[in-house]
Amino acid sequence: MAEHDGTRLNVSTAKCVTCARALQGAEITVAVCAADASQVAPQAAQLAGVARVLAVENPANAHALAAVLAPQIVALAEPFAVVLGPSTTYGKDLMARIAGLLGAPQISDIMAIESPTRFRRPVYAGNAILTVESLGAARVVGTVRMASFEAAAGGGAAPIEKVQLSVELPQHTRFIAVSAASTDRPDLQTASRVISGGRALGSAEGFKILYSLADKLGAAVGASRAAVDAGYAPNEMQVGQTGKIIAPELYVAVGISGAIQHLTGIKDARTIVAINKDGEAPIFEVADFGLVGDLFQIIPEIEKLVS
Ligand SMILES: Cc1cc2nc3c(=O)[nH]c(=O)nc-3n(C[C@H](O)[C@H](O)[C@H](O)COP(=O)(O)OP(=O)(O)OC[C@H]3O[C@@H](n4cnc5c(N)ncnc54)[C@H](O)[C@@H]3O)c2cc1C
Repeated sequence: MAEHDGTRLNVSTAKCVTCARALQGAEITVAVCAADASQVAPQAAQLAGVARVLAVENPANAHALAAVLAPQIVALAEPFAVVLGPSTTYGKDLMARIAGLLGAPQISDIMAIESPTRFRRPVYAGNAILTVESLGAARVVGTVRMASFEAAAGGGAAPIEKVQLSVELPQHTRFIAVSAASTDRPDLQTASRVISGGRALGSAEGFKILYSLADKLGAAVGASRAAVDAGYAPNEMQVGQTGKIIAPELYVAVGISGAIQHLTGIKDARTIVAINKDGEAPIFEVADFGLVGDLFQIIPEIEKLVS
């Protein structure tokens, strides 16, 4: 299932392709549901390892509504042993509906595929890895853990087939509006640099020093759950077990203690820098670099250095 905004294919799709390539002999099909797939389908066709792209065009697909997309995918699913989507907000919403309609088991957060029926996934906030086998099902639906896979390279040239489906689409769910903080910063889930703030920032106003530094570094901004719960940062910025699981090249944790649920979200970050006034804070156990001190002094100093 391709994730896109009507114009650009999300990198999550390229990661799903890499996951699917682990299936020996797999013939990978990418389904692009859109009002007009002419921009996105060619991007999917270029992904290395993709055998074909199905362009499912329908005005109802102008917005990615899981309730509307799911029955269309169900209509396409018959020949496929494994139906994958990304473990992003989009995929988590959609794939469970597809699994429900198909009566198929869902394997969530796949971090490795051993066979079309055998998968590995993290449990207990990533502290144990479970091998799951689906027995006796005609097909398996799965969400792919983004931090576990590199994006598939380009260079492919898969054929694109337009598919006309005669599926009755539900009317009970309609698109009204997207309400999201608009930002020019990189997408948190795919950014190579992320700066996150915790409870220590003290207020939404306090977070501004992170936004300012992030803009200089070309970084996305994240937050701990404590900061989100306190209203210092919007929900979509939460990093961790119940937020976003990310794998940036650089993760800077500012005034974040390093609770296990937060660390779950950053396990796969390449380099972790922690800034905390408590030298005993657990975040320092996972940090590659640590600065012990008051963030309100340290962040302006760093900003001066990068200006
Ligand atoms: C089921 C469940 C799911 C959860 N999911 C998530 C999740 O997805 N993401 C998540 O983040 N949490 C999650 N949590 C919450 C998690 O357990 C912690 O409560 C939370 O991560 C703490 O956030 P924090 O580090 O910002 O706050 P705190 O733990 O209060 O830490 C604040 C840190 O800031 C430091 N500090 C204070 N002032 C300064 C200063 N001036 N300069 C520098 N440092 C300073 C302190 O020394 C402290 O280490 C979850 C909890 C549960 C039970």
